[in-house]
Amino acid sequence: MTATVRFAPSPTGLLHVGNARTAIVNALFAKKHGGRFILRIDDTDAARSKKEYEDAIIRDLSWLDLAHDAIAHQSARIAEYQAAFEKLVASGHVYPAFETELELDRKRSLAAARHLPPVYDRASLDPATKARWEAEGRTPHWRFKLSRTKVSWTDLIRGPVEIDTATQSDPVLRRADGTFLYTFPSVVDDAEMAITHVIRGEDHVTNTAAQIEIFRALGATPPAFAHHPLLVGAGGEALSKRLGSLSLQSLREDGLEPLAIASYLAKIGTSDAVEPRPSLDDLAADFDFGKIGRAPAHFDSAELTALNARLLHHLPYDAVAARLSGMGVGPALWEAIHANLTTLADAKNLALLVTGPVTPLIEDAALAAAAARLLPPEPWDQDTWPTWTKAVSAETGARGRALYHPLRLALTGRGDGPELKKLLPLIGRARTLARLEGKPA
Ligand code: GLU
Repeated sequence: MTATVRFAPSPTGLLHVGNARTAIVNALFAKKHGGRFILRIDDTDAARSKKEYEDAIIRDLSWLDLAHDAIAHQSARIAEYQAAFEKLVASGHVYPAFETELELDRKRSLAAARHLPPVYDRASLDPATKARWEAEGRTPHWRFKLSRTKVSWTDLIRGPVEIDTATQSDPVLRRADGTFLYTFPSVVDDAEMAITHVIRGEDHVTNTAAQIEIFRALGATPPAFAHHPLLVGAGGEALSKRLGSLSLQSLREDGLEPLAIASYLAKIGTSDAVEPRPSLDDLAADFDFGKIGRAPAHFDSAELTALNARLLHHLPYDAVAARLSGMGVGPALWEAIHANLTTLADAKNLALLVTGPVTPLIEDAALAAAAARLLPPEPWDQDTWPTWTKAVSAETGARGRALYHPLRLALTGRGDGPELKKLLPLIGRARTLARLEGKPA
């Protein structure tokens, strides 16, 4: 059977690092097993779902290069849910319930006061009560009748899990207005789309027992489940309040590379090293549920930025040539500056060190004058810098920082930056001379 997975975002907001990680894990698993990756848009909540969010999610996934093999919209499948629901009505797996929200709240408070779990008491199954509520003209919502037995599965990340459905309320599958809640359409889709592995966050573990019972009630075999721990901040804090700044859109605006994000999200919380990887195929090759730990994964923006820098330091010019063309950065300049980049956009500023104009800082006028006098004729190459600075040192007696720092300030106008032996031939003699003379060039 072809491994088939789905990523099922609700289009009620932007894709953020938490659900992007779920998408990446699904996509890498599918890639590794030559399987199918389905994008399922969970848009049954008409009031909160927005087309612009769906478009943004699709744009972000394709930016990450997580191509989906098929896309499905829950809003287009209401007839399928309706048909599956009729089956459960016919087989007696669902029943009408009549309590108002207020009545349910009251039941929950009473249970809490008696230190009892807030499990729905199935009052609507009592024939006399039901008859009375029906006579009042109440429109029912519909609950799935849990087996009240132990349901177990071997979670591919958590290991053996057992949940006694007697500890849970019969889940509402359908509201009084006829709309379906997430629990049910998700199972119908997973069954009808032949999903083999449901890979999602561990906030869904508690839904799984009921969902397994619903699969069985529909006559379907439940898929395998893998629930990964959620992301927390660097200090272990919940990320929920910061998700706006952790959207893929804002990371892209910050100039981060999609592959840095994929490498980072694929590796945090696993037993593998968190390091830049050359491709999604490379990440997929060593994907294994067994490497995903049980503890929450820590998302640290600073660590991601550092990983982005490391990725750029290893990128060959050809991989970024198209994106660099507008910045006037050719292969030699790339070679000179890429070890100094945090984001690719930094290349534009570093290119200015060569093309100028640079406003030189003359810290040691005598040294600058000697250096100007000793400038060799062109052509220059990477040996020019050591030969030239040796001559300047012999003439002035300056060495170490006293030699290099004033030269760097004069040539680049700043105290740090790319290796001068690589920059010098690119800056060229005319500009070097002008800068040593204190002239912007
Ligand atoms: N739309 C659900 C969510 O985003 C999908 C959960 C699932 O993967 O089953 O939480």
